[in-house]
Amino acid sequence: MEKIMNITKEDLAKMTLPYLKSLDHETLVDISFELRNVVIGLLERLEKNSKNSSNPPSSDNPYKKKPKDKEPESSDDEDKKDGEESHPEKPNDSPRPEPERNPGRQPGSQGFWRSETPVPEQIISHYPEQCPCCNRHLNIPDKASPYMGYYVFELEKTDSGIRISCCLHHYYIIMCECGQEVKSSPGQGYVSHQDGRKKDLKLTEYVMTGPMLVTFIAALSVRYRMSRPKIREFLMYWFGLELSVGTIDRCIREAGVACFPVVEELIDELQKEDVVHLDETPWNEKGVLKWMWVAVSCTIAIYLIGTRKKEELLKLITEAFLGWLVTDGYMAYRDHEKRQRCLAHLIRKAVALTGAVDEKAQKMGDWLLKELRCLIKTMAEYGEDNKKKCSPILARLKKACNLGAKEDHAKLKALANEILNDWDAVVAFVKNPDLPPTNNEAERALRHAVISKRISFGTRTSEGSKAYAALLSVIETCRLRNQNPWDFISQVISLGRKGIAPGSIPLFS
Ligand SMILES: [Zn+2]
Repeated sequence: MEKIMNITKEDLAKMTLPYLKSLDHETLVDISFELRNVVIGLLERLEKNSKNSSNPPSSDNPYKKKPKDKEPESSDDEDKKDGEESHPEKPNDSPRPEPERNPGRQPGSQGFWRSETPVPEQIISHYPEQCPCCNRHLNIPDKASPYMGYYVFELEKTDSGIRISCCLHHYYIIMCECGQEVKSSPGQGYVSHQDGRKKDLKLTEYVMTGPMLVTFIAALSVRYRMSRPKIREFLMYWFGLELSVGTIDRCIREAGVACFPVVEELIDELQKEDVVHLDETPWNEKGVLKWMWVAVSCTIAIYLIGTRKKEELLKLITEAFLGWLVTDGYMAYRDHEKRQRCLAHLIRKAVALTGAVDEKAQKMGDWLLKELRCLIKTMAEYGEDNKKKCSPILARLKKACNLGAKEDHAKLKALANEILNDWDAVVAFVKNPDLPPTNNEAERALRHAVISKRISFGTRTSEGSKAYAALLSVIETCRLRNQNPWDFISQVISLGRKGIAPGSIPLFS
């Protein structure tokens, strides 16, 4: 169907009334038929919506009322992401035009600093405890003065809500009896380097934002999709806390970077899972097309932003993985032997066929749709008896595909061949009743990010992408495990700033 769309505006411009009148009958018939096919293609494209294609529900005409839902399995498909099997070359959202300047404070512009000296509620003193030379325990002298100090703002949960506290941290040097000067100093951890950035992002205690405040800011950004200037405004009006947009940006990235070791452990855990759902959607990294992958099991969700190549997939699903994959028809997935093909994708294509202009294609579409739905329904209804019940359906589906593959209608032929060429993966769930026949879990897991991308136009750096993906992974995995993600992330940051590896996300609470 797409081929005949090759007709150009110039072709149409040539077809004036005098030109058409000058043609002989046979040529005129040929041209009319060609034009008819073009119109059919256009009409079918116009009728595309979230029910019969991979278009997202948000693209549906809001003025057209949905008919009462008669199709239970297709209603699950509404969570469709906008990256679709037709593999768009570019993200649907045109990226914001790139500004000439770099983000953040411009060279020469007025700097941002606190208008008043903060008033600390508490002074926390840090003394060295032990001498590294002689292992002697160090006593705190009566009169000591700190060699360094800094303020830390922290978000505290109280009985009645939340508040921002301010503490002054003092660090001391003690002279040991052995003559060694021993210093206490703020903790330090992982350093993240990003090419082209003046200062590396270092996990350290020597910052003005406490772990819970950093987590709160990351939550406002990633989960509640607030822009950095909005977060700045929010903190100022509701807490009287003045932070620069640069500091807020640093907090969001720090939270993500602190989660890197948690995600590494989740990837190891994922390889032992029985069933993993996989999907991918277009992503935008500073105007460059990237892909966001997601791998979801019952207790793990891992996001990854990168290319759409198979190598990228191997970072999520390694050779150690022996379980089942539930995927759409994307070729990168095809090598894996134990695979269930998502039936919701095929059903959407069959639904599109039922609206074809060609009567034969319409009827065949109806048939395929009926058999696919019948298969899902029968598997859901009959436990042990399913194999007996399903074999006639499988036979009919195969017959319909074999007939469809011989037809001239391009879309009918394509769908029939798609099912036949991947037959074992399409029907894997009949032999293995524990397999889900659709990939809704993965599509649902991508939905939050797809909406965020539309609001924020994606991420700006590879570190930003990795940090964002790490936060999404930890938040979604915590949700699957019924854990509070924010308490966990705050703990991860607190440990990371001391250079201590975080524990894994608890499985049960
Ligand atoms: Zn000593």
